[in-house]
Parts: sequence; C-alpha cells; structure tokens
Amino acid sequence: MRMRDEREAVVAYSRRMAGDGLAVGTSGNVSVRTGDLVAITPTGVAYEALDPQDVCLVDLDGAPVDGHLRPSSEVPMHTAVYRATDAGAVVHTHPLYATALSTLLDELPGVHYLVAQLGGPVRVVPYAPYGTEELARLGVEGLAGRTAVILANHGATTYGAHLEQAYTRSLTLEWLCRLWAEARKLGEPRLLDAGQLEAARIAFGSYGQR
Ligand SMILES: [Zn+2]
Repeated sequence: MRMRDEREAVVAYSRRMAGDGLAVGTSGNVSVRTGDLVAITPTGVAYEALDPQDVCLVDLDGAPVDGHLRPSSEVPMHTAVYRATDAGAVVHTHPLYATALSTLLDELPGVHYLVAQLGGPVRVVPYAPYGTEELARLGVEGLAGRTAVILANHGATTYGAHLEQAYTRSLTLEWLCRLWAEARKLGEPRLLDAGQLEAARIAFGSYGQR
C-alpha cells in the first residue's frame, strides 16, 4: 500500500475528532502530505469503520491518485493550503466554540498567550459554500502569517509540520475560543496587546510557518 504510515495517521486522527469535540459524525477531515501526494480522509465513511486502505491519495491539484472511495469534499481547501504554505498536515473541523465565535467576531483576539502559537489573533474569513474553490481561497488568505483560520458559519482549519502538530493546533484553537466565550460571560476580557503576543510568538519560535 502506498503511503501506509500517512494513511494510518489519517485514520487515527480522524477517529479522535468526534471524541475531542472537533467534529460531529464525519464532518471533519484531516490530511498528510509527503512530496507531491496527499493522504486525506474519504467522504461519508464512519470513522470507526475506517481502514488505512480507505484513505484517499490525491495530488497537489486534488486529482485522485489512489483509493477506492471519493475523497473529502474539502480537498480544494487542503490542497490550497499545501500549495500556499510549508504544511505537512492539515486539519479541518467543526468545533462548537470556534464556530459559535465565527458568527459573532472578525477574529479571535489575544485572550491568552497561546494565541501566539497560532501566529497571532485568528482571523474569521467570510462565508463561502463548503467544498468550493472560493472557500479554499478565503481560507488560505486568512492563514497569512497564521497556522489557524476560522471559517464563518462553518468551522476551522489548522496546519502544522506534521499531523500531531496540526491536530494540537485545532485543539488549542477550540480551547481559546471556549476561553473567550467563558470570559465574556463574566465581563469584558482584558486582552494581550500586539507587543505581548509578539514576544510570546518569538519565545515559541516560528516553526510550522513560512
Ligand atoms: Zn467543513
């Protein structure tokens, strides 16, 4: 089987998404890039039933290369991120708090220093229908200088050097959105300024970014 390790990683992380609150049913998807090939979650298969041979391989333009199932409808977004960044893995999710925030704000502000781990305040990009080149274009624009983007009335996308890092960033983003929501219940949160976030970003290093 081609890209066995990458396909096994896609299965393992696809299965984690529902339990981690990052997606409902089969709505999230993950991918791993090696060279000019991308291993990506197939569409419409229950993740508990997913086997490595079910994972699809596509090229960087999204054309199918291997696999007996149809790839995720968000192939255009995954491949657009790979073409635009040095990403080794991409995670697309529908987490509750990030999606709730996407209906209220233009960006997740500096509510905690971990925002710097995502490159800074995370943009919310305008709505576009799922699976479209338009959504892919908006997502990549929103990722400029960031490793996470929130998609209005839809969900979120993160990337990293490898799948564990991309997935951890999705968890971090959701935790930050939840933190903001919880703080807002109590009052107007004090935010970190650009200088404080920049200092945190330098302390973290700039790995995973172009
Ligand atoms: Zn989606």
